[in-house]
Amino acid sequence: MQMIDTIVVGAGIAGITAARLLQHEGHRVVVLEARDRVGGRMWTDRSAGFPVDRGASWIHGLVDNPLTSLVEDLGIRTLEFTVGSYQAGGRPITNFDETHRALDEQRTSAWLDDVETTDRHLTAAIAAADPGRTYADVAEQAVTACVEDPTRRTRLREFLRHRTEEQCGADFTAVDAHGLDEDAIEGDEVVFPDGYDALPGALSHGLDIRLEEVVDAVEWSPGGVRLTAGRQVHEARRAIVTVPLGVLKSAAITFTPPLPDEVLGPIERIGMGVFNKVFLRFPERFWSESAYALRQLGPAGTPWHTWYDVSRVSGEPVLLTFAGGTWGRRIEAMADAEVVASVLSSLRRMYGPSVPEPVDHWITRWGQDEFSRGSYSYVATGASHHDHDAMATPIADVLHLAGEATWSSDPATVHGALLSGHRAATRVLGRPVDLRALLAPTRPTTRA
Ligand SMILES: Cc1cc2nc3c(=O)[nH]c(=O)nc-3n(C[C@H](O)[C@H](O)[C@H](O)COP(=O)(O)OP(=O)(O)OC[C@H]3O[C@@H](n4cnc5c(N)ncnc54)[C@H](O)[C@@H]3O)c2cc1C
Repeated sequence: MQMIDTIVVGAGIAGITAARLLQHEGHRVVVLEARDRVGGRMWTDRSAGFPVDRGASWIHGLVDNPLTSLVEDLGIRTLEFTVGSYQAGGRPITNFDETHRALDEQRTSAWLDDVETTDRHLTAAIAAADPGRTYADVAEQAVTACVEDPTRRTRLREFLRHRTEEQCGADFTAVDAHGLDEDAIEGDEVVFPDGYDALPGALSHGLDIRLEEVVDAVEWSPGGVRLTAGRQVHEARRAIVTVPLGVLKSAAITFTPPLPDEVLGPIERIGMGVFNKVFLRFPERFWSESAYALRQLGPAGTPWHTWYDVSRVSGEPVLLTFAGGTWGRRIEAMADAEVVASVLSSLRRMYGPSVPEPVDHWITRWGQDEFSRGSYSYVATGASHHDHDAMATPIADVLHLAGEATWSSDPATVHGALLSGHRAATRVLGRPVDLRALLAPTRPTTRA
């Protein structure tokens, strides 16, 4: 039997990218995927007849992003929707005050000024922060330095808390002061009216992907790798393991010998956040068409604070809200009806009792998903951004880790995961490979 050059574990965007680039260079590659589908955390649900992205939805910033030209060249349709990074302004957002009244133009502008001033102070506080300080510490420092009024202070605190929960999937008391350093987005953001899974779907064509193969053991030595998936055993010269950080932390895969400390340390230090989505489809729209999002400010924004009007994506009256950190974990233990009732009670405080019951809902539970065990990685207190890259330190030149958690400059994103797959392929080849080769037709998998 012909020797496999590289086994890739996981058919998410990182694994598919690595596999496709290596196959383009003539390597024989096999991808082992635990689920019955490709895409991993890019997962579009079409059960209702229109696409609902249960995982990633946005390209976070079109400028200097490899996804921009990739999706364009693949002919995948996109739609501008620049509110995916918890912006306070930039696009119309209807903000509700502590008494659930919508802010007028003047009060909105005063609110945006407060956010801008606080963010400036926050940048300085983070730059001066001693190691071990949390994002909550520096947020408090910035808020108290900027604003005297107690109501405005509380509003700002809540805003920074919720932004961290969305961007990191963790409470701001658990996130390092530097946890959002790499969070700036360049340019507009877009979503996918036909579903984001079109991207991994297109890139997986022509690859040898074995679905429902749950890898449980990886043995490695300088001579090669031996992977076990149930009763199946696969041998190869090298392996690229792209399973999510939550899976690595859970020890669902045994590595023999154990992973070296320079890789294991980061796996332990970096956090795996939980960030869940709740989509509600209503019989009709009760909110204005002019805003991209609706946001409840202040303490009344706990637990639900922001609703994104994704009607423009689905063509149906659908609002999307998020639950991150402790609240994100808590809703996983609640029945669907309880979650929906909880969201509705917040909306009714803002729009009155006539808000109708939704006709449909979708609730994700990424923390309970055994092949993800969380939503995405974040810099937990005491970790650093360098830990992400350190996790991908090549092991004896035969074993490589890739995936969003291994990409320092943009963890927790699709483009970060894609670039980590590119880096792994480059390291396996021992020479550069152009990312544009992803667009080339696949070749037969015979070794060069
Ligand atoms: C709710 C949510 C919203 C998000 N929103 C955005 C967004 O809007 N924009 C953005 O850029 N990013 C977003 N992200 C993050 C983005 O989805 C991820 O960063 C990216 O998809 C990760 O790709 P990956 O290849 O690293 O991992 P994955 O996509 O998780 O791929 C890893 C694969 O490994 C498989 N696997 C696991 N265990 C095993 C095993 N034992 N054996 C074999 N296979 C295994 C998994 O099934 C999976 O297919 C979001 C994530 C979530 C959860």
